[in-house]
Amino acid sequence: MKRNLSLTLVSLSAALTFSSCYTNPVTGRRGLSLVDETQMRQMADQQYVAFLSENRPVSASSRDAEMVKRVGTRIANGVRTYMNSIGQQAEINGYQWEFNLVNNNEANAWCMPGGKVVVYSGILPLTQNEAGLAIVMGHEIGHAIAHHSNERMSQQMALQFGSQTLSSVLSSRPSAAANIFNAAVGVGGQLGSLKFARNQESEADRMGLIFAALAGYNPNEAIPFWQRMAAASGGNKPPEFLSTHPSDETRINNIRQLLPEAMKYYRPQGK
Ligand SMILES: [Zn+2]
Repeated sequence: MKRNLSLTLVSLSAALTFSSCYTNPVTGRRGLSLVDETQMRQMADQQYVAFLSENRPVSASSRDAEMVKRVGTRIANGVRTYMNSIGQQAEINGYQWEFNLVNNNEANAWCMPGGKVVVYSGILPLTQNEAGLAIVMGHEIGHAIAHHSNERMSQQMALQFGSQTLSSVLSSRPSAAANIFNAAVGVGGQLGSLKFARNQESEADRMGLIFAALAGYNPNEAIPFWQRMAAASGGNKPPEFLSTHPSDETRINNIRQLLPEAMKYYRPQGK
């Protein structure tokens, strides 16, 4: 066990030393990136189709599904505006956005690399209104733009498969690769979901607040939303979303500090 751990540390540090990092275009933080982003997007397309075949999307004509598409489309426009403004439009090249609501009592939401977004109906009582939903979707889209699932997948691949590449794991252990992918994105499944690290959460909050503001939603809505999430964590079935996105006073205070920057981008709808 000890030997395995030291081998893992060696391969992780080797991975960190040789090239395999991604620099977040918004925050400048460097994160581990061992997996080719094209492969991440291919896996995303496959796992997204597989997920929707098992989790029926709510009819596109329902009011809630329309709201999810409307909020998502406006945030995607906000993302484009923002990435253009910082000269990073190439980051979202090839994004093919889709926004689906699925009937599922769990309180959860995620965005895969490449722009496939799913909101679970169980989170709507917590988002409560369109701006609350924009906070959640902006945050999830922030994780995707920041390549956090690639970072999480890279860490898990290094831990479980050492220096093997994703291609070799995909051909020898395809279901293991799929499980790691789903856990990294926050879809759950057999491995459950991985908790996002504090620095990833903070990055997704910062980007999400800006994206929501550019989409015409008041970023201040993040405070009451996270307060509702924190209150729900005391119930007998805490929201799934909290297992991946811990909510506490530190996070809410961090968001308070991010709000002045986000408010600079806020243009209320219709103005
Ligand atoms: Zn998060």
